[in-house]
Amino acid sequence: MAYQVTLIRGDGTGPELVEATRRVLEGTGVAFEWDVVEAGVDIMETAGTPLPDNVLASIRKNKVALKGPITTPIGTGFRSVNVALRKELDLYACIRPCKSYQGVRSRYTDVDLVIVRENTEDLYAGVEYPVDSAEAGQIIGMANGKIRQDSAISIKPISRTGSRQIVKAAFDYAIENGRRKVTAVAKANIMKYTDGLFYEIAREVAREYEGRVEYDEWLVDAMCMQLVQKPENYDVLVMENLYGDILSDLCAGLVGGLGVAPGANIGVDTALFEATHGSAPKYKGLNKVNPTALILSGLLMLKYLKEDEAAARLEKAVSDVIAEGKSVTYDMKPDRNDPSAVGTAEMADAIIARMQAG
Ligand code: NAD
Repeated sequence: MAYQVTLIRGDGTGPELVEATRRVLEGTGVAFEWDVVEAGVDIMETAGTPLPDNVLASIRKNKVALKGPITTPIGTGFRSVNVALRKELDLYACIRPCKSYQGVRSRYTDVDLVIVRENTEDLYAGVEYPVDSAEAGQIIGMANGKIRQDSAISIKPISRTGSRQIVKAAFDYAIENGRRKVTAVAKANIMKYTDGLFYEIAREVAREYEGRVEYDEWLVDAMCMQLVQKPENYDVLVMENLYGDILSDLCAGLVGGLGVAPGANIGVDTALFEATHGSAPKYKGLNKVNPTALILSGLLMLKYLKEDEAAARLEKAVSDVIAEGKSVTYDMKPDRNDPSAVGTAEMADAIIARMQAG
């Protein structure tokens, strides 16, 4: 029976990346029935909202979604659709594997890390008060002179529940994927209550997995240095939302950049798969950007659906095409202006052909 999957085309380069990924996933032989829905800047003009109700309704029904990137205007305009989706559907865990593939240009060759990022709380909870607002004034009043009068305020909530479920997700991921260590990353020396709570809960959860998965802790600043110096020492990294956002991009950089960094947003019974990168709007409609990150996100979806054999075949085809270095997009060529670089659609064709060749 075909899997019913919600397909969100996104905006900017999203639709072309989604189309390439859809074709590759169908090329594995696994049957899908796509429920194609629109969210983002383009639908905003006609629907009056970047996240029409039918998008959430479709995901709630199908429980699995594949999503192209969506633009978030900076400073003003609507709140991030990406954040709203994760919050509305309580997709509390963002899993971002960062793995070196032979042939991808990078300073490092042997990275195999997984970032497990909390997705629903922290400074991304959307609890913010503008400068000079009554609410900001109230908080400034409670802060006994620690906050300047002309401050805007963003609140950082970290809960026991949120911390427990994300740390458990990291340990469960480690067990299911044969990983040896979980590292909790925070800044508990400065944020004693919020990040302190995160560590406290992480230690509790770690005790439940003692003897099966190792546990250690790093402060986020020291972790950044460790990762650029000795990324091979780390395995599964679990952290709050903001640190996870930043370290995901750092780790994507270790394995060759955003073009090859996939992601999965997982909740209790729903999952949404999307690349780490954004909508790269300057390349919109040019059939130019790298589909690998979204295709690898599709691979994570195949694994989630327990289509392990198809996932393994797809991973081999992707890695062969990259290693060969012929049918790859501009960003994977040693010279970014190399005229032999292929487009988004052609790289997908090469991956499909490789899978069919066996
Ligand atoms: P971006 O990831 O869209 O692009 C930054 C640069 O990275 C691009 O200019 C390009 O050089 C490179 N790049 C990104 N994806 C690539 C690909 N597939 N192949 C080759 N090169 C690629 O980041 P940005 O410019 O900061 O964000 C653009 C928009 O996307 C913003 O509105 C942002 O809010 C949004 N965004 C969305 C998501 C999401 O949908 N989950 C994630 C991040 C950013």
